Amino acid sequence: MTFTLAIVGRPNVGKSTLFNRLVGKKLALVDDQPGVTRDLREGDARLGDLRFTVIDSAGLEEATDNSLQGRMRRLTERAVEMADVCLFLVDARAGITPSDEVFADILRKKNANVILAANKAEGRAGEGGVLEAYSLGLGDPIRLSAEHGEGLDELYHTLIPISEQF
Ligand code: GDP
Ligand code: MG
Repeated sequence: MTFTLAIVGRPNVGKSTLFNRLVGKKLALVDDQPGVTRDLREGDARLGDLRFTVIDSAGLEEATDNSLQGRMRRLTERAVEMADVCLFLVDARAGITPSDEVFADILRKKNANVILAANKAEGRAGEGGVLEAYSLGLGDPIRLSAEHGEGLDELYHTLIPISEQF
């Protein structure tokens, strides 16, 4: 059996970059413009000897107006419902933003099984953001760099016990 992992989080934290790294193909659109991916994308992920389904969720423009925020919320809720576990990404360089708190709230309300990760944690620029991520109350953040492929070993070890449930 296998499991489904949904990558969730506000636009521009690196969800699609991580998705592409796990799937090994450029299935999700990644762009320097926040929010190029417009829907949910599914791919077959491999991480070490683990095989699972990964969902890249809800990359929309920065949710400045209510309708966008609503759409982002609905897409994220759908991803959570499809997934066995959610990988909640925040941006270690930007630190925790009000938008991250909104996503944390959605995950709590949906009672999602959450793995927290602070992405863009390569180098020293992410250190403050990693510490801030503890304040979300969703456990210890994994330090990730989707772009540089760092922290994937820790993600792997976190996913092992989850994979054994399925
Ligand atoms: P999404 O909107 O959450 O899907 O984010 P994207 O994957 O499109 O990435 C948004 C931007 O962050 C792009 O410019 C990426 O190159 C950049 N990015 C993604 N991962 C990392 C990382 O680990 N470190 C740094 N420094 N930049 C990253
Ligand atoms: Mg994206």
